[in-house]
Amino acid sequence: ITVFVSGATGFIALHVVHDLLKAGYKVIGSGRSQEKNDGILKKFNNNPNLSMEIVKDIAAPNAFDDVFQKRGREIKVVLHIASPVHFKTTDFEKDLLIPAVNGTKSILEAIKKYAADTVEKVVITSSVAALANPIDIRNNSLILTEETWNKDTWESCQADAVAAYCGSKKFAEQAAWKFLEENQSSIKFTLSTINPGFVFGPQLFADSLKDGINSSSGIIARLVHSKTDEKFYNYSGPFIDVRDVSEAHLVAFENSECAGKRLVLSEDLFCSQEAVDILNEEFPQLKGKITTGEPGSGPSFLEKYSCRFDNSKTKKLLGFKFHNFRDCIVDTASQMLEVQGGA
Ligand code: NDP
Repeated sequence: ITVFVSGATGFIALHVVHDLLKAGYKVIGSGRSQEKNDGILKKFNNNPNLSMEIVKDIAAPNAFDDVFQKRGREIKVVLHIASPVHFKTTDFEKDLLIPAVNGTKSILEAIKKYAADTVEKVVITSSVAALANPIDIRNNSLILTEETWNKDTWESCQADAVAAYCGSKKFAEQAAWKFLEENQSSIKFTLSTINPGFVFGPQLFADSLKDGINSSSGIIARLVHSKTDEKFYNYSGPFIDVRDVSEAHLVAFENSECAGKRLVLSEDLFCSQEAVDILNEEFPQLKGKITTGEPGSGPSFLEKYSCRFDNSKTKKLLGFKFHNFRDCIVDTASQMLEVQGGA
């Protein structure tokens, strides 16, 4: 069975590629340049079951046509993971909303045009951001479930980059469900979405930490490298370990009961203060050298400044246990200290 993975060079996708190869699948990944693709092939020791194709910019019209024209007949499963995850822009439509939405539409159109008979399952990496905007993520009277939708409009989500990112995930996911509804007669695939909270955990390849870090890992890296008494933004909301996000991508297409479902991935609520407490407790070399904030105040902060969630349907469908926050943070920070040094 051959699985196509878009954005295969990213933090989450590399774990997915690794798990797919380990499980015996053939993988076709997409990356933005020959150089990036060659780098990935090398990291996987030129595994004969992995090949890479170039998709330079998912914002461009028909971005996936070439690769699906060339390889579509081989592909049975599509995991669409590519999407911009950064906040350094003021042109929210161009840099966040349009790539997310166009990328989702163009990969589905390419399947319809070139692989309608072969592709049986599509899994799209959406987000808890599609369930709640940044204000609602901190709203303690909101309960997120598999049915919840971010209430922002295309206009209101452009208040700032974080809200626009959340909007980009909402509108991309909505475009996918709409495509499915409107194209029932010309496609045969089922759709599932993966909606993770904040994703932490180790990089598949430690040296990814050397050349620019992905956004969610950056939240932990800044704490690991903080100074005594440094003020930090107390992020709060649902979290999940990247190794569980990866496994969920496999179960999403392997378990037919996941067809048509949104899988909300969250082990628990977290806040940055709790991460800081764990770093100070677990790493003697950091104690006294990094920020402490207000130790022990995490739970009361979450009471006030985090939404709740109920993802019991997802947990039942997935059927495996998620990594807890302490293990996730210890594994994340250990790798950072090893590669980047610190304290
Ligand atoms: P990364 O930034 O590591 O991965 C994003 C991937 O998408 C990269 O391979 C990137 O390529 C590619 N990409 C981005 N923009 C474009 C574009 N315009 N054209 C082509 N490729 C593009 O982030 P993550 O691994 O964290 O994110 C993966 C997915 O998971 C995303 O869909 C994200 O929204 C979702 N997600 C992530 C969460 C998190 O906390 N990390 C939480 C919930 C959902 P390149 O690096 O070359 O630009």
